[in-house]
Amino acid sequence: MACIFCSILKGEIPSKKVYEDEFVYAFHDIDPKAPIHIIVIPKEHCANILEVATDSDMMNHIVKAIQVIAKQEGVDAKGFRVVNNCGPDGGQTVEHLHFHLLGARQLTWPPG
Ligand code: AMP
Ligand code: ZN
Repeated sequence: MACIFCSILKGEIPSKKVYEDEFVYAFHDIDPKAPIHIIVIPKEHCANILEVATDSDMMNHIVKAIQVIAKQEGVDAKGFRVVNNCGPDGGQTVEHLHFHLLGARQLTWPPG
């Protein structure tokens, strides 16, 4: 099944890279909801957070990437938000695990 984020990882679809390591890739969201809106994904395809093997280091690598990106993008001091949408009610539209890193404006709560 075609996965748009796997296509981005293969370079078949262009993306604006902000971070990459052996396990994680991050790029600017194509339709940003904040001045900083970055998508952080594992290089290994995984549909959503329910599918993450809890004996793997994947989430550690994701958290490390988020820490580096927050500093790199200058949102570490004032704060930012990390969002994971899971399934239809969660608003997930791309079925490759991803975390939104949003910042550089005052974010409101609760989300819609
Ligand atoms: P979600 O609704 O949580 O599944 O988020 C998917 C996100 O991927 C949305 O914020 C989209 O704007 C973003 N997106 C979809 N296609 C691309 C693309 N080709 N490049 C960058 N971001 C994308
Ligand atoms: Zn994928």
